[in-house]
Amino acid sequence: MALEIVTKNNVRDRYKSPERPDVWKDTSDKDWNNWVWQQQKRIKSMEQLEKVIHVNEEERNAFAQSHEQFNMGITPYYASLMDKDDPNCPIRLQSVPKMGELFIHPAEMEDPLGEEKDMPVPGVTHRYPDRVLFYTTHNCPVYCRHCTRKRKVSDPSSAAQTAQLEAGLKYIEEHKEIRDVIISGGDPLSNSDERLEYILSRLRAMDHIEVFRLGTRNLVTLPQRITDSFVQMLRKYHPVFIHTHFNHPKEVTRETFDACTRLADAGCVINNQMVLLKGVNDKAEIVKELNHKLLMMRVRPYYIFQCDMSQGISHFRTPVETGLEIIRKLRGWTSGMAVPHYVIDAPGGGGKIPLLPPDYLIGHEGKTWKLRNYKGKEYEYIEP
Ligand SMILES: *Cc1c(COP(=O)(O)O)cnc(C)c1O
Ligand code: SF4
Repeated sequence: MALEIVTKNNVRDRYKSPERPDVWKDTSDKDWNNWVWQQQKRIKSMEQLEKVIHVNEEERNAFAQSHEQFNMGITPYYASLMDKDDPNCPIRLQSVPKMGELFIHPAEMEDPLGEEKDMPVPGVTHRYPDRVLFYTTHNCPVYCRHCTRKRKVSDPSSAAQTAQLEAGLKYIEEHKEIRDVIISGGDPLSNSDERLEYILSRLRAMDHIEVFRLGTRNLVTLPQRITDSFVQMLRKYHPVFIHTHFNHPKEVTRETFDACTRLADAGCVINNQMVLLKGVNDKAEIVKELNHKLLMMRVRPYYIFQCDMSQGISHFRTPVETGLEIIRKLRGWTSGMAVPHYVIDAPGGGGKIPLLPPDYLIGHEGKTWKLRNYKGKEYEYIEP
């Protein structure tokens, strides 16, 4: 049954499994590698977390004051990537509450991207002419502290019920201009394979639908979810694109390598959408290392998002100049494939706006264009 992962070279060997913390030393491999077990054993309390890492005072206080607004949830696998002693570990920063979450900057909003405003029916955001975001669940294996959809994610009352799902499918069916559907959440892989297959088959039956994307962080936080039976199911509905969310090289492991291999071997195209986060990945060297590791897993860096103006995440926000500087240090210095688009999702529903360092185009006089290359040297291009 299982698809053998064939690599005659040493690429897979470069990716290492995390060491299992003591609490799970006696867990069988069968359980550990089972996504249902991982999902059931998620860390939701301080008591559980303290068995895995040395929690500090700030994290304890932040948890006590924040978990009612936004749950903590961490899979044992993702927790096993944490540094036990370093509170600034990039995995900890993304999954364990910090006091910064309690501070709301006056400019921050509950729904910074105006996703509710562009909702013709509950569960569908239709902002761009030819594509929609389709929410299918509120659940995620790990609740990212920087999540822009905190207002919905982890709140069971916002779950997409069957009636809502049907209304969303009906809207997409009636709008022939839609050719690209981004199946989102929460994390759509929190749905069962059966429910996902139902959604995909309904969409695939619509003649105007060309591509789907599954927007999922399971590749990072619960790679065990990518089973052979799941990828076999996806094969029936191609073209299927996977949009995932790696933020740091520490998140790239043997498990993620295998999950990406299964998806890529099944014919899925995988793109990465990184969020620029202070203290996590706000340095060009980190982004470069991440993107190189992603390319070896056949994952193409697609976007770097400037952190949104969501409430309670200002401690993650970097200056815009940081993002521009990262692009400057990538473009030309490494494979073009490793250089994603840096974008700001404009507050209020303006959509994604690309930001390119202004360095490369000096200007033009008539037909003569003055250009600057990545090393700062100037060139002219003359139009006919
Ligand atoms: C990001 C987003 C999309 C997809 O944008 P692409 O640039 O095509 O990746 C579509 N709809 C909404 C509402 C979005 O936020
Ligand atoms: S996986 Fe995505 S939707 Fe879920 S908490 Fe993380 S950022 Fe938010």
